[in-house]
Amino acid sequence: MKIAIFGAGQLAMMMIKSDKNSEHQFIVIDPADNPPASHYATHIKTQYTDKDTLKKISETCDVATIDFENVDVSAIKFLEEKIPTYPNSKALEICQHRFEEKHFLKSLDIPTTEFRYLADEFVHTNQELREKLEDPNNKYIAKTVRFGYDGKGQSKITQHNIAKFVSESITTDVKYILEKVVDFKSEVSLICVRTCNGKSLFYPLIENHHHEGILRVSRYPNNFENLQDDAESIGLKVLDELNYVGVIVIEFFVDKNNKLIVNEMAPRVHNSGHWTIEGSDLSQFKAHLDAITGKEDLKINELKPSLMLNILSKHKSVKDLDEKDLSNTEVYLHDYHKEERQNRKLGHITLIFNDQKTYAKDSKKFLDIT
Ligand code: AMP
Repeated sequence: MKIAIFGAGQLAMMMIKSDKNSEHQFIVIDPADNPPASHYATHIKTQYTDKDTLKKISETCDVATIDFENVDVSAIKFLEEKIPTYPNSKALEICQHRFEEKHFLKSLDIPTTEFRYLADEFVHTNQELREKLEDPNNKYIAKTVRFGYDGKGQSKITQHNIAKFVSESITTDVKYILEKVVDFKSEVSLICVRTCNGKSLFYPLIENHHHEGILRVSRYPNNFENLQDDAESIGLKVLDELNYVGVIVIEFFVDKNNKLIVNEMAPRVHNSGHWTIEGSDLSQFKAHLDAITGKEDLKINELKPSLMLNILSKHKSVKDLDEKDLSNTEVYLHDYHKEERQNRKLGHITLIFNDQKTYAKDSKKFLDIT
């Protein structure tokens, strides 16, 4: 099939590389110069909303997808009327907007963080909120409703800075939600896949370690197997309600009572699933391609103990690796061929442990990432 991918970053690159038997042809659309996937497919360098490009894609491609969740919804709306386009515009619209996303989760009775629109609170900073902010046990952060990722667009909010923060944000026209900080024990994510006929498939929960809001390490297996059923029932509700096709990833906090609280959703393949390239016989990338091209018999037969380390500029993960004993471990390096920039994801390393015992002993050594 001929597949158009909007966004040509490392996710598109790994999606294309997962098509090992060259079953498909790929066109990537991205306004950047030389993005990672442009080395593996025809690259149209243009804005996602370019009318001529959208027309051309709709006339020449069999299916369209994304590697970047901030592709303009209008482009997806145009395409989905003409060719199968996944995710659909409804899913994209919800996931692009933190308030809409949390509102959607709440409407399905899915636990999410306590939230409210910050803009609404400015004039009438209400008594209830004032009391909550005064309580030293409560901590809050403001998050931009749009375009926030890797902890960007987030600020700590207290009773002392809320008025100033809101008055300043009004002048910039950026909208925020105020979110309660969760005192979590861990963070986990669930890769969910749904086929065109509505069959669902889930990967096991992945344990994720962030530092400064950025994912650093993902680990499977972990101690959260007992939460798998709860996570899958949340995943199923989301998939069915959105009539979703392809991969969507749900990120959770695990609170101190061992309960899952959804942080956010990514309507695409996800950094926490990169280990599935070597750690599973069905990578998240191949699963996404299979689902959006109409395959129905998706199965995960094999999962190996795996650990994924992101390589960020100025990050010491590679140096750390030099100092560790990696006998009995396979090491895979993925280079995204990107120029270095502060805290930019430049690549990742996956470690596959050849036995559970080594994994249990060694994988924890990588979790100290501060
Ligand atoms: P986000 O961009 O919302 O996924 O946030 C990035 C990271 O910041 C998360 O993975 C958490 O480590 C942290 N974070 C975000 N929101 C919260 C919250 N409400 N409570 C605690 N930590 C948070």
